[in-house]
Amino acid sequence: MSPSDRTSVSEAVNRPGGLLLQADGLLKHFPFRDSLGRARGAVRAVDGVSLAVPQGRVLAIVGESGCGKSTLGRLLLRLIEPDSGRLRFDGEDVLALSPAALRAKRREMQLIFQDPFASLDPRMTVEAAITEPLILHKLHRGRERARVAELLERVGLRPELARRWPHEFSGGQRQRIAIARALASEPRLIIGDEPVSALDVSVQAQVVNLLGDLIRDLGLTFVLISHDLGVVRQIADEVAVMYLGQIVEQGPAEALFHAPRHPYTRALLAAVPGQGGALKLLEGDVPSPVSPPPGCRFHTRCPFVQPICREQVPTLDGEAHRAACHLQDSLPAATPIREAAADARLARLQAYFTEQPA
Ligand code: SF4
Repeated sequence: MSPSDRTSVSEAVNRPGGLLLQADGLLKHFPFRDSLGRARGAVRAVDGVSLAVPQGRVLAIVGESGCGKSTLGRLLLRLIEPDSGRLRFDGEDVLALSPAALRAKRREMQLIFQDPFASLDPRMTVEAAITEPLILHKLHRGRERARVAELLERVGLRPELARRWPHEFSGGQRQRIAIARALASEPRLIIGDEPVSALDVSVQAQVVNLLGDLIRDLGLTFVLISHDLGVVRQIADEVAVMYLGQIVEQGPAEALFHAPRHPYTRALLAAVPGQGGALKLLEGDVPSPVSPPPGCRFHTRCPFVQPICREQVPTLDGEAHRAACHLQDSLPAATPIREAAADARLARLQAYFTEQPA
């Protein structure tokens, strides 16, 4: 099934039961104190995020390190509590679940971590690691060993490796074991937090292909958290781009990759190997999430910035493909970010020399 054959978000919204995961206005700030214990502010890690994932679709959440995407992933699984907002899984209010009900619900929602070395307990054999969720959720009782063998085969490993210890495997093999363990509870939703970024490039492609096969064959709903648009492009149906705790662009992967509407997305795309190095052309560092810039949060780095951008917060506008940019309908369609940034730099230099006394 190709991505275009699958149900779109807008179609799923209008169909009861079409959405598996739905978040509205999720907000998570982490307060911090100085050495004397006085409140000094808060890191606005996730600052009002809304998104929806239809059953059987792959949503990728992308952005630079520190943009809040990993915190968002944990909020979506309620591994951390949001300060406010709503979260529904298959129509059920996840934030209203009791601790016991949440534990039971977790069978359907699994997380694959970035580091396959840290995610497996070195004191457990592969068989024990994969059997644990089977016992916890009372699945395949009496045939746990056979089920472990099936799961290992499903992720491309020989069943006879079950008695070995995690340190006996390579990084790619360990990530396959972590995937088998996540599959053991027969989840409907998996969140992969940079699931291949710790692997060698040659192994990354194999694991991405495996994830794509599993998603297709098992009808999984998958949220892929990644900074790597090359990986995202291979398996995502829908992409949400995050910057400083907020989604700045969201839409079908094909539309977003071919016609990005937000300057930040353009910069990310231009930074994909083989397409330039636009992130280097963005002015300045990512601002502090403790005190984000007023107006458009991206205005301190945007080569297209206008006076309105410094004053008014742009809203996420559009239908299936949405962007939070005042100029999204008037940005130069084909102007590479590299040229726009160079133009902006030139203009600043000219202004500087014009202002200098002769
Ligand atoms: Fe750039 Fe202005 Fe759009 Fe923000 S609103 S991305 S500063 S053009």
